[in-house]
Amino acid sequence: MSKWNKHAIKANQFAKHQHLFRCPLCSQPMRMVECKSLLCTNQHCYDLSKHGYVHLSSRAYKTKYDKQLFASRRRMCNSGFFDPLNEAMTNHLMEFMKPLPGRTIHHYLLDAGCGEGSHLSHIQEKLTRRGISELTGVGMDVSKEGIAAASKTYPHPLWCVADLAHCPFANQQFDGILNILSPSNYAEFTRVLSEEGCILKVIPEQCYLEELRYLYKQNKNMPVYSNDNTVSRFKEHFKLLNAERVTYRFALNADLIEPLIHMTPLSWGATEADWHRVKEMNLTHITIDLLILCGKK
Ligand SMILES: [Zn+2]
Repeated sequence: MSKWNKHAIKANQFAKHQHLFRCPLCSQPMRMVECKSLLCTNQHCYDLSKHGYVHLSSRAYKTKYDKQLFASRRRMCNSGFFDPLNEAMTNHLMEFMKPLPGRTIHHYLLDAGCGEGSHLSHIQEKLTRRGISELTGVGMDVSKEGIAAASKTYPHPLWCVADLAHCPFANQQFDGILNILSPSNYAEFTRVLSEEGCILKVIPEQCYLEELRYLYKQNKNMPVYSNDNTVSRFKEHFKLLNAERVTYRFALNADLIEPLIHMTPLSWGATEADWHRVKEMNLTHITIDLLILCGKK
C-alpha cells in the first residue's frame, strides 16, 4: 500500500473517532478537516504526520527515551517477554468488555504512556481474538520517538503525542485505561474514563528484573524497593477491585541480553563496565514480577 493510501486511511480513522478528542490548549471539541488536521472550534490546528499520528502536545518535550530504548523494548515485547502480563491484563479487560448477545458496543481503550506501542497492540489483538471486534485502541505518549515508532509498526490503533497533564480527550470516552510501568495523572485518568470503565495500572514488584537489580545494588546502594506509596495513591483515586501479582521467569536467548539491558530505566547511569559485567553474567533467565492494579471510579 502506498504511503498516501495509508495516510488517507489513517485520516479517515481519526475522522470516524474525532469525538474522542478535545483541544489540549482550550479544551474545545475537534474535528478532522481536509483529511489532514484535527481542528478545534477556536482554530487550533494539529496536523496528521506523514506516519499517521497526531502531535497533540502543547509543548515540545525532550525525554530520556531514545530510539535505541524503544527498539530494545519492542524486541523484548516481540520475544514474548511480556506475554503473560498482556494475557493477564486482557483477562481483566474482558470482564468489562464482555460481548453481549444482540448488542454491539464500540469500545475504546487508552494506553497512557504507551511508548513504542507494543503492549496496546498486543492486548488489542488478544481482545479481538476473544470476540471484542468493535474496539479502537488509542495510544498516547509524551515521546515523539515512541509514537513515531508505534505508528510505523502498528496500523490499527490511533497514536498521538500528548502530555499526561493535558490529555487531549473529551470526558468519559474510554472503557479502559492502561498505564504500564509509566507515570500517572489520576485527575486526567478520572476525567477521561467512563463511569463503568476500568483502569489497569502496572507497577514493578520487588523481584522485577532482580538479576539486574542485584548488580546495580552492589554498585550503587540502590534503596530497597517498595511500591506501598503507589498503591495508596491509586486507592485515593479509584476503587481497587483487584491487585494481581504476575510473577514468572523468562528464558533469555543470548541475543536478548543486549535489548534487555537497554530497555530498562535501570540502565540509566550504567557505565560500559556495568553492561560488560551483565553480559559476562551469562544470564539464562530473568524474573518478571509485576503488580496489576485494577480499579474503577
Ligand atoms: Zn483549541
